Amino acid sequence: MTNINHITAMSELRAALKKFSQERDWEQFHTSKNLAMALSVEVAEIVEMFQWLTSDESETLNPEQSLHLAEEVGDVMIYLTMLAAKYNLDPIECARSKMVKNSRKYPAKPK
Ligand SMILES: [Mg+2]
Repeated sequence: MTNINHITAMSELRAALKKFSQERDWEQFHTSKNLAMALSVEVAEIVEMFQWLTSDESETLNPEQSLHLAEEVGDVMIYLTMLAAKYNLDPIECARSKMVKNSRKYPAKPK
């Protein structure tokens, strides 16, 4: 098992999250429905951070806001990784594949 402070790959994050859940007997709660709902809630927590900021204010977060955003990004990544793992999906590979599809659908204009 990779030390949690040295996780750099999706496969390592996925394994660490599985171990974390198993050690707490939380896997019983991690149905696809529950993980999708948790993911949505964590995304909403990011939205809430920006809800009443002006566009300019949203571009310059203070250190406390930046830390809060980092924590919520972590929460989103955790639930996304756990949901994807249930279907043996690698989020990085999913994103790469979708970017290939998007680049064909929206070709860059030559400069
Ligand atoms: Mg959160």
